[in-house]
Amino acid sequence: MVTDYRKPLPNPLHREASLPFWEAARRHELLLPRCRLCDRLFFYPREVCPVCLEAAIDWVPVSGRGRVHSFTVIHQPAHPAFREDAPYVYALIQLEEGPRMVSNVVGCAPDAVRIDMPVVAVFDDVTPDVTLVKFQPAS
Ligand SMILES: [Zn+2]
Repeated sequence: MVTDYRKPLPNPLHREASLPFWEAARRHELLLPRCRLCDRLFFYPREVCPVCLEAAIDWVPVSGRGRVHSFTVIHQPAHPAFREDAPYVYALIQLEEGPRMVSNVVGCAPDAVRIDMPVVAVFDDVTPDVTLVKFQPAS
């Protein structure tokens, strides 16, 4: 864990609605919201189901397994705090359970990332309060 982490941290629009996600990430678990009415998983977290608008939401553990749906290699980050990380992979991950999640692919060279590559979630404790969910190639 880096104690002097100075990069921008996620600042969720739906802070209350996404709290279970962030608490689970700190425990190194991946939870997704699931609608109690239509039973669909969704991501990003929000107050109501994006399909049927039901407000009753459960949080369920998912495997953390997925595939790279799309990605780009960032060579010139928009924010200067990320310059030291470049080049890095900004990816859309297709989770095994259905929803897609924007994240980074780590643990391999950026030019090794491919569309449809199997990946698994890893948890990056960037501060004592914030853990980021990233993905690495599945072994
Ligand atoms: Zn629903």
